[in-house]
Amino acid sequence: MSDGLPPLRDVIDTHGLRAKKSLGQNFLLDLNLTSRIARTAGSFTGFDIIEVGPGPGGLTRALLTEGAERVIAIERDPRCLAALAEIQAAYPGRLEIIEGDALEVDLEKLSDRPKKIVANLPYNVATPLLVGWLESEPWPPFFKNLSLMFQKEVADRITAQPGSKAYGRLSILAQWRCEAELMFDVDRLNFTPPPKVTSSIVRLTPRPEPLAPADAGMLNRVVRAAFGQRRKMVRASLKPLGRDPLPLLEEAGIIQTARAETLSVEQFCALARAYSAAE
Ligand code: SAM
Repeated sequence: MSDGLPPLRDVIDTHGLRAKKSLGQNFLLDLNLTSRIARTAGSFTGFDIIEVGPGPGGLTRALLTEGAERVIAIERDPRCLAALAEIQAAYPGRLEIIEGDALEVDLEKLSDRPKKIVANLPYNVATPLLVGWLESEPWPPFFKNLSLMFQKEVADRITAQPGSKAYGRLSILAQWRCEAELMFDVDRLNFTPPPKVTSSIVRLTPRPEPLAPADAGMLNRVVRAAFGQRRKMVRASLKPLGRDPLPLLEEAGIIQTARAETLSVEQFCALARAYSAAE
């Protein structure tokens, strides 16, 4: 793919963008790969695309060539702004650049249009950003979908099914409110500099209604306690919540010998409802 702009390697040299570990900087230089990532967002028609951490702009350029009508990119590193301004000039009126920390910016307020979020996330802030988006209120949230790069180990946790080693709090939090799909892996050698591990793209599509009714705060408390002592039976690990778990497990239709990693999202919701009813 060629978009008339200089190769990303030259952009990095020209602007002196030596990767900073503290900012989780591992850049993608292959525009065919970034286009493949951009396409996981689906249709761009009628949406603003929010990109977190554009860096030198590999994914930003792909979003624009793939047809994004408008990209709003939030970058914390001021060194990247001149490189991003060149992309802005090549796509007049289609790229807005915000210098700042994505954890501090209210993404919903960035525009009046429906939004999709696409990001090769800085590893150090990937999970807090995701959890913040998953805890959006009201639900369904302000975004139509999220196409996000994570370390593979985190992507596996987001999409894990009950009974697997990766299944835990993040799986339940994500799958309760979203459909979570593992799209594809990205080998570490595609990045400059290469990180230590493989990465994966995950697409999260908000469900119109959560998978089963539950109070978000209570579900969070129950799941946290249950996985706090992962190897124990839930009747033991739930004790710190301060009630006798046995009648509540019974009310939720869960066998007394169950362990957290075998319970489905719907079963955790039933348990959270039993705890809420007992309050
Ligand atoms: N999107 C580029 C790519 O795919 O090559 C860069 C990805 S790099 C993994 C992560 C980017 O996020 C870096 O450019 C980094 O400066 C930026 N970043 C780190 N922390 C951030 C934060 N809190 N808010 C916004 N951007 C951040």
